[in-house]
Amino acid sequence: MEELAIVVPVYNEQETIELFVREVNKKTENLEIKKNFYFVNDGSSDQTLPLLKKIARQNDNINYISFSRNFGKEAALLAGLQATKESLITVMDVDLQDPPELLVPMYHKLKEGYDAVGARRISRKGEALIVSLFSNLFYKIINKVSTTPIVEGARDFRLITRQFVDSILELRESNRFSKGLFSWVDYKVTYLEYENHE
Ligand code: UDP
Ligand code: MG
Repeated sequence: MEELAIVVPVYNEQETIELFVREVNKKTENLEIKKNFYFVNDGSSDQTLPLLKKIARQNDNINYISFSRNFGKEAALLAGLQATKESLITVMDVDLQDPPELLVPMYHKLKEGYDAVGARRISRKGEALIVSLFSNLFYKIINKVSTTPIVEGARDFRLITRQFVDSILELRESNRFSKGLFSWVDYKVTYLEYENHE
């Protein structure tokens, strides 16, 4: 059976991790694919690490990596991707703002011949106006100064082939911006759109 690695950076997420695993399993139960979780503990100071140790012991498809201190989400994503070996990879936030049910259409879209299928949020319902304003400004500025297009509303949430991930891992950037790197290597990518979830 095909295998999917789910890379999830976590920073002080003791309350959300088990709910996340349950939701992902429930919302993707119709996908004929084996799911392996890779949690990356980004130097949490709560009970995230003991919890990861416990659930990794209890479930052979749950793995974890742990940082000695907080290095930030980009570093966690990199370490997580490096740990995977599956033919398909996805990266997700643990707070369920990346809707796991989207993995099903993403999978079918990928099979049409894409190297990656991303998720693009088309509404910002439930988000503070100021956050939306700065976010819009960010995309305006970055697309002016950069020749690498950054799709507005695109999340880090995407389903990616092994070949694409291996290309990303060959880039030796130390200050990483995943959305930029994924755009720069220029594989065949498409986006599915969805409404914001609180
Ligand atoms: N996260 C992380 N390191 C950090 C901050 C966040 O690994 O220093 C993780 C966090 O646990 C979550 C994901 O990155 O799974 C996105 O974080 P958050 O929801 O806070 O970001 P936002 O929704 O504001 O982009
Ligand atoms: Mg979030």
